Amino acid sequence: MNSELNEDTGEMNEDDDDDDDDDDEEEPKEKDDDDDEGFSMLSDLPVEMSERRPTCRRCCRPVKVCLCPYLPALPLDVSTSLYIVQHPAEESRVLRTVPLLAACLAPGKCRVFVGRRFSEDRYPDLAAVCRDSSSLLLYPGAAAESLEDLSFSSATHSVILIDGTWSQAKDMFLRNPLLQLPRQVQLRSAPSSQYVIRTQPNNMCVSTLECAAVALAIMENNLNIQEVLLKPLQALCSFQLQHGAQVHHSKEQLIRSGQYNKILPKNKRKIRRMQRLLGHDT
Ligand SMILES: [Zn+2]
Repeated sequence: MNSELNEDTGEMNEDDDDDDDDDDEEEPKEKDDDDDEGFSMLSDLPVEMSERRPTCRRCCRPVKVCLCPYLPALPLDVSTSLYIVQHPAEESRVLRTVPLLAACLAPGKCRVFVGRRFSEDRYPDLAAVCRDSSSLLLYPGAAAESLEDLSFSSATHSVILIDGTWSQAKDMFLRNPLLQLPRQVQLRSAPSSQYVIRTQPNNMCVSTLECAAVALAIMENNLNIQEVLLKPLQALCSFQLQHGAQVHHSKEQLIRSGQYNKILPKNKRKIRRMQRLLGHDT
């Protein structure tokens, strides 16, 4: 556990990472394992205070703020299956968006595996998906192809997403050989998070939902899917706004509009990765 000062809010942020973040260390060379901040720029959503309220079983939200009215009446009909490999810290967050994603899809179309290490023995189902030549891993990187460039006419596919902060996701990718087996893809048209409300950083699950929405829309060749999947997220944000959450422009937006006058991240790779995630690398 380490804490760092959020340069936007001046508040101390708890970092959930257990082992791989050492931002405090002085090191002259470029490091690439301190990317949490990069992701926090993209998706900051508020987190409710209490976890002990009665919870809706479908959307996993507190009953008082149940989002089921914003979920599709019938599950979306998709041929693609999603496999979410989730860092344990994400599961315990109060604001969880993967359950919203799962609730929009037919049972079995969005399976979640919680853990840090995924061995063939302990996760045979996941291993089978990783070994399937038609499976894709949605994870940005030099080796990743743009999902938009692939064709999805006939075969059904499985898409694996890693749900965690940047450094958690990177750690999970690097330390799990299974996750390195599938063809690696990234989104050129990834959404620049429209739903940015100020609060805690590192809520990568928001972008996991958004990325899944975009990926499914591409693979199913149906833009409506993206709209339907983002609806509960919009409702969530609008609810949070009504209850005092503060909207702010993401650093990425400010950088693009030239209004960002704070010190830019020192790590150029971090910026590049942000741009890649947002699809702005040209
Ligand atoms: Zn509900």
